[in-house]
Amino acid sequence: MKFFLLFFSILISLSSCLTSREVAFASRNNNVCKTLNGKVVVYAIFVDSKETKPWTNFDIQSTLDSIQRAMDWVIVQAQSNQIPLDIQIEYHKNASGQIPLRYAFVRKTLYSTLFTIPISRGIRDTDNWANTLARKAGKSLDIDTSEVVRTANKMNDRERLIARLRDMHGTDNVALIYFINNYHKDEVSVAMHTGSDWQIEYAIVSHKSPSVIAHEFLHLFGAWDLYYSHRLLGLPRRHEKRMNKKFPNEIMAFAYRDIDTLQISEFTKYCIGWNNKLDKRYSRLVLGRRWRPLVY
Ligand SMILES: [Zn+2]
Repeated sequence: MKFFLLFFSILISLSSCLTSREVAFASRNNNVCKTLNGKVVVYAIFVDSKETKPWTNFDIQSTLDSIQRAMDWVIVQAQSNQIPLDIQIEYHKNASGQIPLRYAFVRKTLYSTLFTIPISRGIRDTDNWANTLARKAGKSLDIDTSEVVRTANKMNDRERLIARLRDMHGTDNVALIYFINNYHKDEVSVAMHTGSDWQIEYAIVSHKSPSVIAHEFLHLFGAWDLYYSHRLLGLPRRHEKRMNKKFPNEIMAFAYRDIDTLQISEFTKYCIGWNNKLDKRYSRLVLGRRWRPLVY
């Protein structure tokens, strides 16, 4: 199976230079999903279209089982690092109990919609797809009676959906993940805007395995792709080989494996806020000698 996992934060992740060498990662402690601790809500939206395989009840249940397994794994990782973490899984369904929403990508698949030229158009079209679905999902939520939101909440985009979910569940950490039941073997899973401070991050998952779901979930909290980052940073291939040797079971490098064989490396722990400092042995593997991650 052709397999892609991509995300769009690394290019701007090192944009915040504090000194000539010390850098803050833009994806860390940023946006809606900040550091991965405390109470977290995963909000899943199942999406049908004529270009994707229809979601059957069995498909939905087995995917919910995979989400549960992925989050159980994340909690076990947190516990072994003495991180308090509670993850609640929620999903969209309308008043009559129907779960999938129906809306198509403008160019049939996520891959062809997102990876068009210019890429800015692909990102915009993908965001529009996500916003339309968020608006539909928002309509299914209870009417807002909170005193925190005093103005009419029209739920007209994913920002509004997230604001409503934050209010309903009493936490800032809401991970928005869209699930598509894909026919296409080369379809991708992506996490969008994880390093942005003006666009709310979200993920689209087209593979049902718990490890892929956990991988994308960790992206939302700031994790980097560790099979890919050296290329974006212009570092030689040997960095990838050394990383693979140092982090042989890293979920951000080997998301296609069985989740029970995977771990969260020291580098990823720093990205998601489980460590406040990254030992230079690990930072040099990923960043080279030029940059030094900020100590929080
Ligand atoms: Zn990834």
